[in-house]
Amino acid sequence: MNKSAVVIGGGIGGLAAAIGLRRIGWTATVLERRPELGEIGAGMSQSPNALRALAELGVADAARAAGVPFHGIFNLRTASGGHIVRALPGTASPLLGFHRADLHRVLLDALPDGWVHPGAQVSAVRQDADEVIVSCGAREWRTDLVVAADGVNSTVRSLLWPEASGPRFWGNTIWRGIAHADGIDAAMTMGRGQYFLAMPVGGGRVYWALGARADRPALRYDDELAEVRRRVGHWHDPIPHLLEATAPEAVLHHDITDLDSLSGYVRGRVVLLGDAAHAMHPDMAQGAAQSLEDAVVLAAVLADTGDDVPAALARYDEQRRPRTQTIVKQARAKGLESTSGNAVGYHLRTTALRLVPSSRWPALAAKALAPVWNWRPPRLPR
Ligand SMILES: Cc1cc2nc3c(=O)[nH]c(=O)nc-3n(C[C@H](O)[C@H](O)[C@H](O)COP(=O)(O)OP(=O)(O)OC[C@H]3O[C@@H](n4cnc5c(N)ncnc54)[C@H](O)[C@@H]3O)c2cc1C
Repeated sequence: MNKSAVVIGGGIGGLAAAIGLRRIGWTATVLERRPELGEIGAGMSQSPNALRALAELGVADAARAAGVPFHGIFNLRTASGGHIVRALPGTASPLLGFHRADLHRVLLDALPDGWVHPGAQVSAVRQDADEVIVSCGAREWRTDLVVAADGVNSTVRSLLWPEASGPRFWGNTIWRGIAHADGIDAAMTMGRGQYFLAMPVGGGRVYWALGARADRPALRYDDELAEVRRRVGHWHDPIPHLLEATAPEAVLHHDITDLDSLSGYVRGRVVLLGDAAHAMHPDMAQGAAQSLEDAVVLAAVLADTGDDVPAALARYDEQRRPRTQTIVKQARAKGLESTSGNAVGYHLRTTALRLVPSSRWPALAAKALAPVWNWRPPRLPR
């Protein structure tokens, strides 16, 4: 019999989950609380593991067409512009940079009309052994499975995992913007206590991000772009130019939070996926990547175990929890290191990196990241 799922959340994780379910012959209803579908105006990169997950979901070509090869991690600079490591001409990059809205659109386009319901905020989830009932105000859905992809502040996690601690702030904050500029190379500029990332995302747009420490959460400025300028407006070109080419009202400023390890991602027929399960610091560029992996593994275990949803979810939990929770911890450590104001640590880091010949850096970086990047997806039935 045809099985059905409700996916809560229409972000990258939720849409990917629905695509995976569709590939194994399920139907899915995606409930998204925002009245309009889409992603925020910022960018992201996707690594080989994520690109393999996208391929298994059947959207590799569309994703490649929407992305731009990203060389930022092979082009490390100091605030004054000196190259710590430089991407040599012709260096191939295994990473793709995206405007978030473009990647979101690729996923949305892979779903049938009518699967995604904007303006549907889930307020309650209850279940017995045979089904789950999801409520959005007065409306209810009865289903075999609920995939909770409702983000770092997940409503489902707080309803069904009441013992879990909420998102935790470790002191990192980030500004993001999209500048309209051409001919810009991707680069990561390592300052002491803060870093600036620039990444072309196609269509004459450059995504930039400034990561830094904050004394307390929710510290906001009347003019966020002016604060970014104050911090890095005197750094090397093209940083001042990118800030000039950014609309002040489009600058985003968020604190970074992550999740302590949950003891399980599954309660009955409800499963957490993406940031709802394992929100992490952005410093390994793995948050969305891991949600894509989650989506493929979920579809694979459901396809394998036939009608036994709880058995499939137990296998999902077993496969996904150790990997994602390890990456959460690594990303946290990396995030705190990249914004550390410690002068000795900064000097040691940049000196060690300078000793690496630029020609060898891509291979060394790939080797260091191999446990994350080399993940291979399970095959979904065609
Ligand atoms: C600064 C920054 C940079 C990043 N860079 C990268 C990167 O380069 N590469 C990468 O892979 N990842 C990156 N990430 C991480 C990535 O953005 C997230 O991991 C990813 O977007 C999570 O997707 P999600 O679908 O799990 O959650 P979300 O994108 O948060 O989606 C959750 C959705 O659920 C909806 N929702 C919430 N509650 C309800 C409800 N009650 N009912 C219905 N709908 C609901 C929300 O409106 C939202 O649309 C970055 C994150 C940050 C903060």
